Amino acid sequence: MNFQSTRDTSAKKLSAACVIKQGLAADGGLFVPESIPSLTKEDIEALCGMSYPERAAFVLGRFLTDYTKEELLADCRAAYSESSFVGGAAPLVKLGDTVHSLELWHGPTAAFKDMALQIMPRLLSRALVKTGEERTALILVATSGDTGKAALEGYKDIDRIKIMVFYPVDGVSTVQKLQMQTQTGANVNVMAIKGNFDDAQTGVKRIFADSDVAEQLNDMGYFLSSANSINWGRLAPQIVYYVSAYCDLLSKGELKYGQPMNVTVPTGNFGNIFAAYLAKLMGLPIDRLICASNKNNILTDFFKTGTYDRNRDFYLTMSPSMDILISSNLERLLYFVAGPAKTASYMKDLNEKGAYTVSPEIKAEIDRHFCGYYADEEMTAKTIRSVMERYGYLADTHTAVALSAAEQYIAETGDRKPMVVASTASPYKFASDVYTALYGESPASPLEALDALSNKSGTEIAYPLRGIGERAVRFTDVTEAGGMKDSVFAYLKK
Ligand SMILES: *Cc1c(COP(=O)(O)O)cnc(C)c1O
Repeated sequence: MNFQSTRDTSAKKLSAACVIKQGLAADGGLFVPESIPSLTKEDIEALCGMSYPERAAFVLGRFLTDYTKEELLADCRAAYSESSFVGGAAPLVKLGDTVHSLELWHGPTAAFKDMALQIMPRLLSRALVKTGEERTALILVATSGDTGKAALEGYKDIDRIKIMVFYPVDGVSTVQKLQMQTQTGANVNVMAIKGNFDDAQTGVKRIFADSDVAEQLNDMGYFLSSANSINWGRLAPQIVYYVSAYCDLLSKGELKYGQPMNVTVPTGNFGNIFAAYLAKLMGLPIDRLICASNKNNILTDFFKTGTYDRNRDFYLTMSPSMDILISSNLERLLYFVAGPAKTASYMKDLNEKGAYTVSPEIKAEIDRHFCGYYADEEMTAKTIRSVMERYGYLADTHTAVALSAAEQYIAETGDRKPMVVASTASPYKFASDVYTALYGESPASPLEALDALSNKSGTEIAYPLRGIGERAVRFTDVTEAGGMKDSVFAYLKK
């Protein structure tokens, strides 16, 4: 199986190891598989009898054909072990008659980014060997919170890789900051910058684009690589849990083989829901894909009108991982429904005018699979309260957006098919907002919110967040945004 760019009509193809190492295609497009492998009835029956790591190795093997079965199985077993995913990698919890919460946050950073970032570093480490790369990969990450920590945990102590994470000094939550400052591992570094997330991201992009930096790094035996969500190595592992959820619904007798499920996904960069679409293209019985947004509802409008328009206000919400106006992975959907030439022209419009409109035929094709709903801040808080009242279920702010969207869809359509809702973060990762939504008052402090939520709700704090206030702080350095490049070299020379 080879891969090509979403914008490339020349059909130039690369292996999986190459695209995982490279991240972004040379023309600015994203890598997509040249064809979609299929999952047959026999495959799905076989998958039902497997553990999560075995399911993952099976599905990944369909796309990463330059990795051996043994390599994938060893990596999946290490990535999705019971000690890092406590309580299972992707358990389904039933809420009411039709809704099932697919909990993707049992990993080491309590957010769904772990599902991909626990396995991708292992795939990259092998890609270095497979492509004859002799240098060490240096991963640079700019983060607004969740990705940085998940990348640090994923890349820590992985062979031939170093990682450096930049975060805005006042732009992440107390818990997120502590999670990063207390990071363990011999190959990691964390730096706060004086500036906001955009400054951090611009700084990282500048370092990537600087040919002097590349040359200096090369002389020192390094090359730059990125961990962001447009890398195919992050997307492929996300297909697995939708397949796994279908198997679990079959095993629980919630449906019979061939009967479809619906899926709702709280969406930011469109990576997670795109993985569900790929699972559908592979033949997994999925009917509707419901794209859930918060008050930044650019995607809801896109699915309604066919126009994607980022010329609009940007809001900070209590579901910050969905506060996004450019959903990069939507480009992959456009490629599959419109082809590379049209995709390239839509992306050009987006760059130049901040907007594009798909043709009626393309809109109709997208409508066959997707629809969009959103929840504003008030609806999100109300949903947190109502799922607690009705089901005794503690949902985080992102999951609540999705649960609200699923309910709106069901109320509007009367569709009673099993509805799998992706639950993307532990409620303890956003304890302060969850506490306020439930009990109508703010906790004494962000750290005290964890204990307060645990005591009042009678649930346990997610294991990665227990005792976070007592851990040794390792990284306290702060630099000017202009000093990021120097801090990279200072780290490598240490
Ligand atoms: C990243 C993230 C999302 C959004 O996922 P995308 O793949 O970017 O659409 C939703 N919820 C949480 C908690 C996240 O960390």
